Amino acid sequence: MKPSAFEYETPERTDEALELLARDPEETKVLAGGQSLVPLLNFRLARPDRLVDLNGVGELAYLRRDDGALRIGAMTRQATLERSSIVEERWPLLKQAIRLVAHPQIRNRGTVGGSAAHADPAAELPVALTALDATFHIRSARGSRAVPARDFFLQPLMSAIEPGELLVEIETLPMAANSGTAFVEYARRHGDFALGGAAVVLEHEDDGSIGRAAIALLGAGPTPLRASAAEAALVGATVDEASAAEVAALAVEDVRPTGDIHGSAEYRQGLLRSLVRQALLQAAQVPRAA
Ligand code: FAD
Repeated sequence: MKPSAFEYETPERTDEALELLARDPEETKVLAGGQSLVPLLNFRLARPDRLVDLNGVGELAYLRRDDGALRIGAMTRQATLERSSIVEERWPLLKQAIRLVAHPQIRNRGTVGGSAAHADPAAELPVALTALDATFHIRSARGSRAVPARDFFLQPLMSAIEPGELLVEIETLPMAANSGTAFVEYARRHGDFALGGAAVVLEHEDDGSIGRAAIALLGAGPTPLRASAAEAALVGATVDEASAAEVAALAVEDVRPTGDIHGSAEYRQGLLRSLVRQALLQAAQVPRAA
């Protein structure tokens, strides 16, 4: 099928894009890498009157370290994140997650902002950004606001971005020294959307115990979920086979995934428990040097 007709705008600056978005917010869509939006247009599941193509807005494509934090411009390609040595050294969870996203061709076009804004519950980046307590910087012609990850992903394919708004930047805080991270998932074929996944960050104390933990789940519900009780249980503990299995059981205790033809709810819950256990053991083995 072909998309229904739309006006096509090609701004070169963020302010220009915001002005175009403000003209008719409800009927305007932003085009980033197009890897999710173009199929939706082709199937006429999205029928905007106007498309604002951000690919000419160079000022939205950057990776910057600022006071220890990582600032990612919304139009940064997923492949740029994947190849960044800063990301590999300082925010390894992002690299561990991004290499599981689709295939290289898709990561070359797909953007970090597009993946976040699309809010697919089976997408890896939203889960990694949730584990990292990222902040999402949103602008419109009226002003700007910052939304923490826990309030950003609202429903499947729905984020906190309102009509007329643009996600401009994602910010992740510095990771503590001696942190270990892991992103583990299961997909039926490499590059497919995963049936389940787990992102783990463990901050190690000098004595080897855990000072702080973050566990975010993929495929456990309509949005990325933090396993808060399991995180709390890890503080002051050490991770070994037995404790990883116990904490993984706690992480999925209250989780009720939706079953479908690819796996029942019970299968998915068991899968998540196994993935959390694996991610905990991996993250425990790779404390990052200070
Ligand atoms: P687009 O498709 O251009 O936009 C997606 C949505 O976000 C649109 O509604 C658009 O209006 C909105 N949007 C984009 N940027 C902004 C912004 N800055 N501000 C406000 N709204 C914005 N993803 C995974 O995570 N894991 C996978 O395994 C995976 N497999 C895939 C397999 C295939 C075959 C394909 C085609 C895609 C797959 N994807 C997967 C999706 C891919 O990662 C997309 O790149 C991503 O979901 C959307 O990014 P995009 O830049 O292409 O956004």
